[in-house]
Amino acid sequence: MTTLHQEINRLCAELGKDPLMVQGAGGNISYKEGNVLWIKGSGTWLAHADQDNIFVPVDLGKLSHHLVKNDFESSPEVIGEHKLRPSIETTLHALMSQKVVVHLHAIEVLTHLIHKDSQKIIGRLFNESQNGQLQIAFVQYHKPGPQLAKAIQEALANNLKANVIFLKNHGIVIGADSADGIRVLLRNLHSICAGSTPVPCIPAHLPTVPNELKERYIPFADIEVQALAFDPNLYSRLQYDWVLYPDHAVFLGKEAFIYPSWESFFSAAHSQAQLPELIFIENTGVFVKPNFNLAKMAQLRCYFDVISRVGPTAQLDPLSDNEVSALLNWDAEKLRQQMAK
Ligand SMILES: [Zn+2]
Repeated sequence: MTTLHQEINRLCAELGKDPLMVQGAGGNISYKEGNVLWIKGSGTWLAHADQDNIFVPVDLGKLSHHLVKNDFESSPEVIGEHKLRPSIETTLHALMSQKVVVHLHAIEVLTHLIHKDSQKIIGRLFNESQNGQLQIAFVQYHKPGPQLAKAIQEALANNLKANVIFLKNHGIVIGADSADGIRVLLRNLHSICAGSTPVPCIPAHLPTVPNELKERYIPFADIEVQALAFDPNLYSRLQYDWVLYPDHAVFLGKEAFIYPSWESFFSAAHSQAQLPELIFIENTGVFVKPNFNLAKMAQLRCYFDVISRVGPTAQLDPLSDNEVSALLNWDAEKLRQQMAK
């Protein structure tokens, strides 16, 4: 293992353990060594980089050759035999010229990227900051994979030095020539993007499940996330602003199952072939099926972290039904979700 590889593993583990940077299997990191692009395997967790090998080597020369010809569809070629498949976002890493590239759904930035006028907000924040280390570019929402890679290539063509790319309704891509360079960029981004957070209504203790449902549901154990059912501003977001970025749709589905009371849940349950695995009962609590997995728990916490940072009057820009269907009917995402369990 090279020193760079060790350095990157430390960075992965550090970022992977910070829920404001990485949620479950989300986010990915790559580094370039000669003609090899080492990229995180699909469905692996950055947080596990200090125990497991999460990287797959792909042929950077061949990948760059495809990109020069505007071919964003060709799959990256893995060097040698590996059990892991390269991340579905490998191409965007190859487009960046820097040695180390990190793609994250960082909460403090994502909070701005889900607004209707996110491009203006980002422009204002970064103009005011006058931070010379950051060369920024902004890309509108595109489905991850070839479409997103193409949009990033266009943004880079207009700004060759860009080291921070904002992806609307998605996250960031940043590039530097070392792990420490990435840390510096992230610290700068955090100091510019973090703002004051409204205090949500969090219940004093976890809610209980009615006796007849004790086998089916448990209260979601993270008490802060219970605010989604108790805080009127957050609760109303569940209906209108549910899918704000791709991983949310992939792990938590296209709609929130919200009910004004247990009575309304019971009457709706009769007509549902399967009980939803995550339910919100207004002023009562957030409940999940006992097998709700860690990747989904991390995504629900992420949703709370994002919308609890947004003021009640903010105009958000959820993904459209078509954008959500495109994510849910995508085989690459189905595989990633399987692996993230
Ligand atoms: Zn992403």
